[in-house]
Amino acid sequence: MAADDDRARVLAWLREEDPWRLEALWRMADTTRREHVGDAVHLRGLIEISAHCVRQCLYCGLRAENARIERYRMSADEIMDTVREAERRGYGTVVLQSGEDFALTRFWVESLVERIKRETGLAVTLGLGERSEIELAAWRRAGADRYLLKFETSDRELYRQIHPPLPGRNSERIAILGTLRALGYETGGGVMVGIPGQSYASLAEDILLFRELDLDMIGIGPYLPHPDTPMGRGEWRPGIAAEEQVPNSEQMTCKVIALARLACPDANIPSTTALATLNRVRGVELGLMRGANVFMPNLTPRRYRANYQIYPGKAYLADSAPGTPGIEDRIRRIGRIIGTGPGRRVMRVRSSPGLRASLS
Ligand code: SAH
Repeated sequence: MAADDDRARVLAWLREEDPWRLEALWRMADTTRREHVGDAVHLRGLIEISAHCVRQCLYCGLRAENARIERYRMSADEIMDTVREAERRGYGTVVLQSGEDFALTRFWVESLVERIKRETGLAVTLGLGERSEIELAAWRRAGADRYLLKFETSDRELYRQIHPPLPGRNSERIAILGTLRALGYETGGGVMVGIPGQSYASLAEDILLFRELDLDMIGIGPYLPHPDTPMGRGEWRPGIAAEEQVPNSEQMTCKVIALARLACPDANIPSTTALATLNRVRGVELGLMRGANVFMPNLTPRRYRANYQIYPGKAYLADSAPGTPGIEDRIRRIGRIIGTGPGRRVMRVRSSPGLRASLS
């Protein structure tokens, strides 16, 4: 069966260690990227609007139990100032991200989105966690264009353990992605690479799932241990064999980005901050040269940054140190151009050869 063939091919690439063969993978991903989404790198201004979170995800520094960060919530006026900063820089989109914070009510977010749409020409992406269909529908009506909700891993048992559901509720991110799509959002999913307990087989499934869900946006970053979390402290001991465990390395992250590009040729795929954190010198470029076409400079005001600590040591690339190249220069130096406009997903009519042709 074709799906089984694809699964085997993806798995073989994930296990590939030969540098020459990997060069071929990077080249295929880069060619597919150029043919389908072009040389433009779209910049999205990321604003981390609240560090409050009700959840207890084992990997994330924002987890409710972590008393070592100071929780903040930006006011609508502070957010608008930052949105204008994104507009001043010429970005086409703002991404509003937060912990799962129910003080960000349906009405508050609704009026914020309406205000951004009224006062600026920017596309609005939300990443506020698992919210009800009523809320998601209201925000879409208010003008929100896109929603990001990474499913983190397609291994249901691993997911349940590392991302415990709230009492009395299920955590069904893949179902929510379907709801978002039905509401007319451009829909983004994605995974972490190298979560303790994540097997090669499940990571191959994740990549096939990107294609099955026909995601508009796919976020892929390495898992980075946070010392104030159970996973980061090593208290979480998954029962998988060492040879099955996916490493949380730069190379493995690049493989997943490249395979995601081959599986979903016209998706918007960012070179993530987590990858840039793992390799501060070249991480952004590596992602962009191996399949990615988006970057999300972090515009969160300085006074809040240290407290939006999903993982430690986050790289901040929106403002470069004097005398060093800014993010735009870094993008141009690898032969790419800065995207203009909202940077929606553009679907080609011509059907893509996809994974099968490019992997055989
Ligand atoms: N509350 C929102 C936004 C969370 S932060 C939500 O849950 O969707 C956005 C992403 O950061 C998460 O989806 C996760 O993939 C990533 N993340 C969280 N902790 C991380 C860690 N320790 N290492 C790497 N990525 C992490």
